[in-house]
Parts: sequence; C-alpha cells; structure tokens
Amino acid sequence: MANTPYPESYYAASANAVPPRPALQDDIETDVCVIGAGYTGLSSALFLLENGFKVTVLEAAKVGFGASGRNGGQIVNSYSRDIDVIERTVGPKQAQLLGQMAFEGGRIIRERVARYNIQCDLKDGGVFAAMTAKQMGHLESQKRLWERFGHTQLELMDQRRIREVVACDQYVGGMLDMSGGHIHPLNLTLGEAAAVESLGGTIYEQSPAVRIVRGANPVVHTPQGKVRARFIIVAGNAYLGNLVPELAAKSMPCGTQVITTEPLGEELAKTLLPQDYCVEDCNYLLDYYRLSGDKRLIFGGGVVYGARDPANIEAIIRPKMLKAFPQLKDVKIDYAWTGNFLLTLSRLPQVGRLGDNIYYSQGCSGHGVTYTHLAGKVLAEALRGQAERFDAFADLPHYPFPGGQMLRTPFAALGAWYYGLRDKFGY
Ligand SMILES: Cc1cc2nc3c(=O)[nH]c(=O)nc-3n(C[C@H](O)[C@H](O)[C@H](O)COP(=O)(O)OP(=O)(O)OC[C@H]3O[C@@H](n4cnc5c(N)ncnc54)[C@H](O)[C@@H]3O)c2cc1C
Repeated sequence: MANTPYPESYYAASANAVPPRPALQDDIETDVCVIGAGYTGLSSALFLLENGFKVTVLEAAKVGFGASGRNGGQIVNSYSRDIDVIERTVGPKQAQLLGQMAFEGGRIIRERVARYNIQCDLKDGGVFAAMTAKQMGHLESQKRLWERFGHTQLELMDQRRIREVVACDQYVGGMLDMSGGHIHPLNLTLGEAAAVESLGGTIYEQSPAVRIVRGANPVVHTPQGKVRARFIIVAGNAYLGNLVPELAAKSMPCGTQVITTEPLGEELAKTLLPQDYCVEDCNYLLDYYRLSGDKRLIFGGGVVYGARDPANIEAIIRPKMLKAFPQLKDVKIDYAWTGNFLLTLSRLPQVGRLGDNIYYSQGCSGHGVTYTHLAGKVLAEALRGQAERFDAFADLPHYPFPGGQMLRTPFAALGAWYYGLRDKFGY
C-alpha cells in the first residue's frame, strides 16, 4: 500500500519525534469516525474524547499531512470574511452568535498547548500591515467591529510605530493583535494527536477513507479495513477529493506557497521583527511571514487556483520576500513547499450534516488555524445534541462556483487578478 510521506518542508525537518502509527487492517466499531487528522479532525476528536465519546481517526497519509502541517503558522482571529460581511449576508442575529465565537479559536489553541504541554514554539502577537491609506481605514473599522464583540487586545499603529515592530518600509500603518500570534503548525498537530491518544482515541495513518456507506449505521471503508460508527465527521478539507460529492461542488482547492530561509542568527532576525510578532499584509492576495523558533524567516504568499503545484516555488515567493526585506538578498532559501486550502465562493466555512449522522466542516478559505479549532468544539457540541452554535455556521448560504467544476478555476483566477490589480493601484 502507498506510504505517503510529508512534503519536504521546514516543518517536517524540525518535527518533534512521534511513534509510528499503524494503518487500519481490521473491521472495528466506534462512536465517532473522524476522517482527516488536521486541526479540524483532531480538535473534534479531542473535544469528543473529553466528553466521553469513543473516537477513531482515519488519516490518508500522516497526522498533519495537509494544510495543518504546512501553513504559515499564524494565529489570526475571526474568519476569512469578517463579521460585518456576515451581518450583511445573513442578518444581525446569526452574526451576533458568529461574532461571539470569532475569537474563541485562539483561546482553544492556547488552552490545548497548556493542558497537554504541546511544544510548538507558541508566541503572542500578530500584525496586520496596511500598504495604503484605504487599507488603514479598513483596519480602523475592523478594530471598532472587533471591540464591539469584546476583543480588547488591539492597537492601531501609525507608520512610525509599525516600523518599530517590522523593519519593512512598505507599510503606512497597521494593527497589532496581541491575541494573535504564531506556532510551529506541524508540531501543534503532532501534540494534539498525542493528546487524542492520551485520552484513549485511536489514530490510523496511511488509511484513506475510500467509501462511505450511508444509513442508520454508517460504515467507512479504507483499503484494508472498515469502521462502523454512530457518527462520521468529514474533515479532509482541500485533500478530500470526491469522497463526498455534495461538498466538492461548492468549494475549490487552492494552493499557496511558503519558503524558509537559512537560520538568520539572533541579531539579523531581531532587526527584522524585534518583538517576534507575525505579520500579514492587507492585500487580497496577501503575503504573510514570521520567524521560526530557530530564527529563520518563513514567508508565504500567492494563490494558485485549482491547486496545481508550481514548478519553481522559490522563483515565485523569493521576489515577494525581497520586496519586503531587500536586506535578505544574500540569504539562502533552505525549504520551499506548497499546500492546499479550500476556498468557498463566500470565503466563509462550509459546515453541515448529511442525513442525521454525517457531519462536516471545511472551506475556511485561507484563515483556518483558529477557526478549525473552534470547529472541533462546535461539531462536538452538535453531536452531544447542543447544535445552536453549529447551526449558526450550517445556516450560512453556499453556492457553486460560476462555471462549475470545469471553469471555476479560470473564473476564480480572473476575480483574484481583478482584486490584485485593485491592491496594486491602491483602490
Ligand atoms: C501553505 C498554507 C499556509 C496557510 N497559512 C495559514 C496561516 O498562517 N494562518 C491561518 O489561519 N491559516 C492558514 N492556512 C489555512 C489553514 O492551514 C487551514 O485552514 C487549516 O489547516 C485546515 O485544517 P483542516 O484540518 O480542515 O484541513 P487539513 O489540515 O488539510 O487536513 C485534512 C486532512 O485530511 C486528510 N484526508 C483527506 N481526505 C482523506 C480521506 N479520504 N481519508 C482520510 N484522510 C483524509 C488529509 O490527508 C489531511 O491530513 C494556510 C494554508 C496553507 C495551505
């Protein structure tokens, strides 16, 4: 059977040691079968185990193989579309509930790291950097909006102040969120997987779910085994393929690329990001970066619609890095990789039930580190019969991409090109 390894990322090279996990080779029974061992799957498993469910996780490759083990590591609050957009789309009542949850994911991560002693280089502080006066205006409204929902750890920064936290001349100002921050994303998933096992959960690796037989007693088939469960949670996100055709129609896998420099040394690292905050700019096609625990610069950006892997990632991302930090022109790139996130047309998460025992959450469209942790809690609440918060997400409307599966990629790329141009000319 295929043995799918991690991509050759900095995270895989610096991952904490973990025991090997077997592939499923039996017929077993469980309360909940979770498909996918990324943040969504592992967070669901943890909340369910803490509430007395028996849980089995099936992972097609390895724990954290997907976006959760490859991302920029930035803990960003709220959703890919903010609460004001939700308010305009679905009305104030649902927006109120979703707004109250918008800052919970970051708290869940910190609780998990503390309770299970997860070694993942957790650092506090995230910066949203404005490239234009218009973007600065958006940040001012965002601060007012987030404060309306009880978030108090925000500071607006003018051009002088942002230069104290980021040695980059591109920004006119920004906003610092001290409840944002960053982590080694793969080590967070590995720690969460160990926590799942410490509570009696079972994780099978190299065990893709290849078929779901639906019904009152659903069964998930893998190449060499099957799991009978009372409930199934589908958490395969951009790597799920067509296992659940209803979900594939309203979402699209997209690639984004990350590079990592050689270690910069304490001194140079400190000149770039003196407080070790992470940074993302406010463009539609945004750049994001931060320092690693061993003081490399981890820099990501760009989107490939349809998730084709670009041939030369360094050629795409290094110029973006040098635009922000020309002083790194002689620094070597040690790692470059790509990962897929799942885009929905509204850029809001796609959450719901199929029948009364298959649950799913996916498609958080780029900002998923915090949301996926919240999703696990909300899914677990729904399985325990408290579905009010789950339903607030499940009621968000979703539509197929224009052009269907054939033309959705060029149409989305066209849309992004348009927004990219607007960013470039400061509209
Ligand atoms: C390069 C990159 C950078 C990013 N940077 C950030 C960032 O800095 N901050 C932020 O908030 N968000 C970021 N994101 C988004 C964030 O990483 C994701 O939203 C989040 O990790 C999604 O988690 P998930 O568990 O839903 O999916 P994934 O982590 O993709 O996990 C899905 C898992 O399911 C498995 N799977 C799929 N199909 C099956 C099957 N049939 N059977 C069994 N297993 C299956 C996969 O192998 C995979 O391990 C980034 C994404 C990428 C790709």
